[in-house]
Amino acid sequence: MSDIELMGGDIQEAPKPVETPRVKRKYTRRKPKIEAASKRRKPREEPLPAGWLQGLNSINCCVACGPEKCMITGENVCGHPNKGGLQTKYMSDKAVMGRFGEARLHLAHQEAEGGKGRKF
Ligand SMILES: [Zn+2]
Repeated sequence: MSDIELMGGDIQEAPKPVETPRVKRKYTRRKPKIEAASKRRKPREEPLPAGWLQGLNSINCCVACGPEKCMITGENVCGHPNKGGLQTKYMSDKAVMGRFGEARLHLAHQEAEGGKGRKF
């Protein structure tokens, strides 16, 4: 015996679930093409060829460096970490600072490796 039968004798249908109106999706999955394109076009500093630090050691700058252009500063001023470091005007240049940091790291690795051999 169910409660429904007791109430009116008729078997009532179970109450219909309240129909919820479909909410329009606010988010679209696809990314606007414009955004993707602009992202790609954003200049990520000029890409340096792999191994641009080649030749860099404690006394010499990169092989690719020339009197008219240093690979680190990108200008005609050598940015070799051991040659007096960077000029102040480069300190605010993130690209130069990045390359300078890489150069220093490169030198540090060299020094570490050289040190191992020189231990005797
Ligand atoms: Zn240089």
